Amino acid sequence: MKYISTRGSAPTLGFEDAMLSSLASDGGLYVPQEWVQLDKAVIASFCDKSYEAVAVEVLTPFMGDSVLAQRLPDFVAQAYATFSTPEVAPLAQLTDQIHLLELYHGPSLAFKDVAMQLLARLMDDALIRRGARASIIGATSGDTGGAAIAAFRGREAVDIFILYPDGRVSDVQRRQMTSVSDAHVHAIAIDGTFDDCQSLVKAAFNDSAFRTQCALSGVNSINWARVMAQIVYYFTAAAQLGAPDRQVAFSVPTGNFGDIFAGYAAARMGLPIAQLMIATNVNDILARTLQSGRYALGAVTATHSPSMDIQVSSNFERLLFEVSNRDAAKVCAYMNALTQEGAFDIDEAALATMRQIFAAARIDERETLAIMQEVKATHGLEIDPHSAVGVGAAQKMDLAADIPIISLATAHPAKFPQAVAAAYGALDNTPASITALADKQERITHLPNNIEAVQDFIRTHKR
Ligand SMILES: *Cc1c(COP(=O)(O)O)cnc(C)c1O
Repeated sequence: MKYISTRGSAPTLGFEDAMLSSLASDGGLYVPQEWVQLDKAVIASFCDKSYEAVAVEVLTPFMGDSVLAQRLPDFVAQAYATFSTPEVAPLAQLTDQIHLLELYHGPSLAFKDVAMQLLARLMDDALIRRGARASIIGATSGDTGGAAIAAFRGREAVDIFILYPDGRVSDVQRRQMTSVSDAHVHAIAIDGTFDDCQSLVKAAFNDSAFRTQCALSGVNSINWARVMAQIVYYFTAAAQLGAPDRQVAFSVPTGNFGDIFAGYAAARMGLPIAQLMIATNVNDILARTLQSGRYALGAVTATHSPSMDIQVSSNFERLLFEVSNRDAAKVCAYMNALTQEGAFDIDEAALATMRQIFAAARIDERETLAIMQEVKATHGLEIDPHSAVGVGAAQKMDLAADIPIISLATAHPAKFPQAVAAAYGALDNTPASITALADKQERITHLPNNIEAVQDFIRTHKR
């Protein structure tokens, strides 16, 4: 399998190189040259198989002739042994139609563990075989940092630098990043906002001398390997509910569009998905785009579901590429307009193709808390505010009653103490890993919002 860039002028790469480079050199994102096809019999067999076995079947064809493909069963086994439930991604039934897919049983209690635990093992192995090292740099509004540090700590071939906005992540999220003692893990509090952190990371990548000198690599969802790992649970969940003989639908709390793009990939691979619901909070740029055809940047509002407080939804570029029949020139035109004018208009035909499978709904702050309470009152389940946005959007879906809706539960509520206090007062159960954080020593580097300061720090601390 080869990978091509959505902007058409970066070199075509194999799986390993696409994974290690993360962002394509033309500024685009890598996508597989063709979609792997799984036939009905294969999909039907998934309902009797373990999560790990399905992961190996779904992911191997994406790895082509990479050595990683042979070692995949080991990496998958190790990655999901870190989860607190053997099912990895269990389903819980909420109503006759709506099911919750629990993706928060990994070490950092957010769905980002599902991909990050696998990615860390793949990257480490590829680097060690090449006798290479990498400096992993990432910006986080909270969950990506904790998941990346949990996955990459202790790995010999990498140093990891996570930039987070000082004072703007939850206590739990900060402690997950700062209480790790490994010397090659650096949690950096930036005197600025999340947007500042993201600009610093981009500036570091765009300095090509620095990028080469420090062998920068990225672990956010612009990295294809992360999206790829998330395809698996769309298949396991759907097969448990009767696919491929029955259609299913998904409601996905959406920020950077990585998770829901994995669902789109599953559909392209042969999974019969009736609808993919883009569930957003009041930062509803994607819902407005699907309705009007115009993608227009606005200001970000802080909400109870901070991991979806976003305007530039990176993986939407991958969808634009697909619905434009892989016309890279078209994608370049959209992205240039976005940079220059802060907006672009999607072609009628492309928009119509999008609407065949995607729907969108916006859930406001009041509804989010009300849904958290409703799910607890009616089902005894405490859910996090992001998952509540998913359930709220699922309730708005207008589908035949025999199509099950799978709503993705993307984090454990214990990660969001403020929303929990507002909705529940206190949680019935707080995981021991969260309680234990309070007693751990924190190690934080404070840096100004300044690219030279960040680059100096990375240069001196990479091994
Ligand atoms: C990152 C995140 C999301 C959004 O996922 P995307 O792939 O960025 O769309 C939703 N919920 C939680 C809890 C997250 O951490």
